[in-house]
Amino acid sequence: MKAHEGIYIDGAWRPAAGQDVIEVVNPVDEQVIGTVPAGTALDVDTAVRAARTAFPGWAATPPAERAARLAALRDVLVARKDEIAETVTAELGSPLPFSQAVHAAVPIAVAASYAELAAVHPFEEKAGTSTVLLEPIGVVGAITPWNYPLHQVVAKVAPALAAGCTVVLKPAEDTPLVARLFAEAVHAAGVPAGVFNLVTGLGPVAGQALAEHPGVDLVSFTGSTAVGRRIGAVAGGALKKVALELGGKSANVILPSADLARAVNVGVANVMSNSGQTCSAWTRMLVHRDRYDEAVELAAAAAAKYGDRIGPLVNAAQQARVRGYIDKGVAEGARLVAGGSEPPRERGYHVSPTVFADVTPEMTIAQEEIFGPVLSILRYTDEDDALRIANGTVYGLAGAVWAGEDAEAVAFARRMETGQVDINGGRFNPVAPFGGYKQSGVGRELGVHGLAEYLQTKSLQF
Ligand code: NAD
Repeated sequence: MKAHEGIYIDGAWRPAAGQDVIEVVNPVDEQVIGTVPAGTALDVDTAVRAARTAFPGWAATPPAERAARLAALRDVLVARKDEIAETVTAELGSPLPFSQAVHAAVPIAVAASYAELAAVHPFEEKAGTSTVLLEPIGVVGAITPWNYPLHQVVAKVAPALAAGCTVVLKPAEDTPLVARLFAEAVHAAGVPAGVFNLVTGLGPVAGQALAEHPGVDLVSFTGSTAVGRRIGAVAGGALKKVALELGGKSANVILPSADLARAVNVGVANVMSNSGQTCSAWTRMLVHRDRYDEAVELAAAAAAKYGDRIGPLVNAAQQARVRGYIDKGVAEGARLVAGGSEPPRERGYHVSPTVFADVTPEMTIAQEEIFGPVLSILRYTDEDDALRIANGTVYGLAGAVWAGEDAEAVAFARRMETGQVDINGGRFNPVAPFGGYKQSGVGRELGVHGLAEYLQTKSLQF
C-alpha cells in the first residue's frame, strides 16, 4: 500500500488543496494497493489557470517542436512499457499478457502516430482566394474512464498537444496510477510546464468542476452515456465545444456465406477481451436461422475456454451490475448456454464468460450496454431483417460483418448506422477515426480526424 502524493500542475507535483484520498483497489484480490489525492474544484481551478497561462506559448510553438516532444513521450512510454502493463494489471485486474499487448502497446502506437502527424500535418489550407489557418482550440478538459485507462488518456492528450492545445486531465478514480505514470512520462519528455496537468479526483467533484470551468474551451469525455449527456448539456449551455465517446451495443453480423467457425470464434474472443469492458465490443452476434444452432454450439464451446483466461471486472459495482443483467436475461426468457450470474471465484470481482441464445431484439440484454463478458446471439431471417436488428438500438459505435467475399460484407456495412465496421476480421487500426453514430457519441478520436477535433479555423481573405 503506497500513498501517492500530489497532483501534477504547472510542471511539478504539488499538494492537493484538501486532505481526502481515493483508495485504489486491485480487483483480483480486493486489496487496497495505494491512495491518490482526491482533488477538488480548487485544484481543478489551479490546473486550468496553469493550462491557460501556458496556452499562448505552446500554441505558438512550431509543429516540428511539438512533434519532437511527442516523439520523446513515445520513447518514454516505450522505455516504461513493462511498468505500464504491471500498473494496469494491478489497478484494472487484466491479465499481464493482455496488459502488455493492449494496454501498453496501443497507447504507444497512438502516441507514435501523433508524433508523426504533428510533423507533417498542414496547419494551413487554401480555399479559393483565402488562406485557412488551423489553430488550436485552447484549453482542453479531458475526462477518461478506466476500461482502457492509458489508451483513453493518450487518445485525447496526444492529439491535443499535437494541435497546440494545453490540457487538464481528470482520469477515472479506479485507475489513477497509470495516469500518474503518464504525467511522469510527459514531464520526462520535456513538455513545458502547464501544457499538461493532472488532477486525480472523484467524477462528481473534480470531473464536474472541470466540465463546468469557464476557462476550459473543449471538454473531451469518454465514459457512460448518463454522464456524457450531463457534460454535453453543461458544455452546450456554456457554448463550448464537446467531444463525447460513449457506450455501444455493436452487432457482429455473420452472413450465410461466411466461414461460420471463424466468425463465431473471433466474435466470442472480441466480447471476452478485457472481460467485456470494451465500448466497441461486438456484444450482439447476428446469425441466419439456418446456421443458428451450429453457431450457438460453437460460441458456447468457445466461451467455456475463456474461463481462466479473463480477469475480473474493475470493481464490485460493475460486477453487481453485470450479474444483474445476466439475471435479467434469464428472467426475460433468453437461454443461458455458457456461464451465468454466479461468480466463479470467491475473491475478486469475477464474472464467468456468459453466452445467451434465443435472444430477441427487444430484450434488455439486446438493447443495453452490459460492459461485462456477456454475449447475446440473435437469429435473423434475411439480410433486411439482419440490418433492422443491427441498426435497432440507440447506439452506433462499432460492428463487424462476415461474408464469403469482402465485397458482400462491405455492401452490408454501408447500410449500418455505426462509426466503425470490421470486415471479415479486420484488425484495430490506431489511425482510423473512432467514434459513434447516434447516442454513441459526438466527434471522432485517433488519426487525422482525432487531431481535427482540437483545431479551429481562421480564414484570411486576400
Ligand atoms: P462514468 O461515466 O461514471 O465515468 C467516466 C469518467 O467520468 C470518470 O473519470 C469519472 O470520474 C467521470 N465522471 C463521473 N461523473 C462525472 C460528472 N458528474 N461530471 C464529470 N465527470 C464525471 O463511468 P463508470 O461509472 O465508471 O462506468 C459506468 C458505465 O459506463 C459502464 O458500465 C459502461 O457502460 C460505461 N462506460 C463506457 C466507457 C466507454 O469507453 N464508452 C468507458 C467506461 C464506462
